[in-house]
Amino acid sequence: MSAARSTTTSVNPSPRLNNRKFNMALGHVLGGGSSINAMVWMRGMQRDYDGWAKNGAKGWAFADVLPVFKKQEDWEGGANEWRGAGGPIHIRRPNDPHPTAPAFIEAAREMGMPVTSEEETAYKTLGASSTTLFPVGLTGW
Ligand SMILES: Cc1cc2nc3c(=O)[nH]c(=O)nc-3n(C[C@H](O)[C@H](O)[C@H](O)COP(=O)(O)OP(=O)(O)OC[C@H]3O[C@@H](n4cnc5c(N)ncnc54)[C@H](O)[C@@H]3O)c2cc1C
Repeated sequence: MSAARSTTTSVNPSPRLNNRKFNMALGHVLGGGSSINAMVWMRGMQRDYDGWAKNGAKGWAFADVLPVFKKQEDWEGGANEWRGAGGPIHIRRPNDPHPTAPAFIEAAREMGMPVTSEEETAYKTLGASSTTLFPVGLTGW
């Protein structure tokens, strides 16, 4: 991504992140980062949506947003309880992950972290996992 269209901004240390700082990517185009992001297709955690709804965000429970996610998707594995097929965004697993990626996940498993499959990331994003991708306009992925 060209530096003229994209930038990063430093986020203040957060106690919820062990007081770490991180850089957040922003898009310098009409529509912001939402116009130019690409690659990682990740939903939020089911329990976060349900927590928002419980605290008054009507229509934001996971059961409310799931049909919208599914409508957007064209999951390579076909439609199921959690994934949609036939939508405008083609989503798939990484074809040819770098060898360090599965090694990293195995290391996390050995350390006792939960490991989440790509299918499970449709509703659960806790722990280590390979991610699902939506390679817009990119070749070789
Ligand atoms: C290059 C890049 C790659 C990315 N890749 C991924 C990815 O693969 N997967 C992923 O999940 N996420 C990715 N992201 C992050 C993702 O794009 C953002 O988290 C998401 O788009 C944020 O959405 P938003 O609606 O909160 O903000 P934005 O889409 O950034 O929208 C904010 C809008 O508010 C406008 N605005 C800001 N301040 C004001 C103001 N004071 N007055 C009026 N308007 C204002 C901005 O101009 C912008 O149009 C990427 C981001 C970038 C930049």
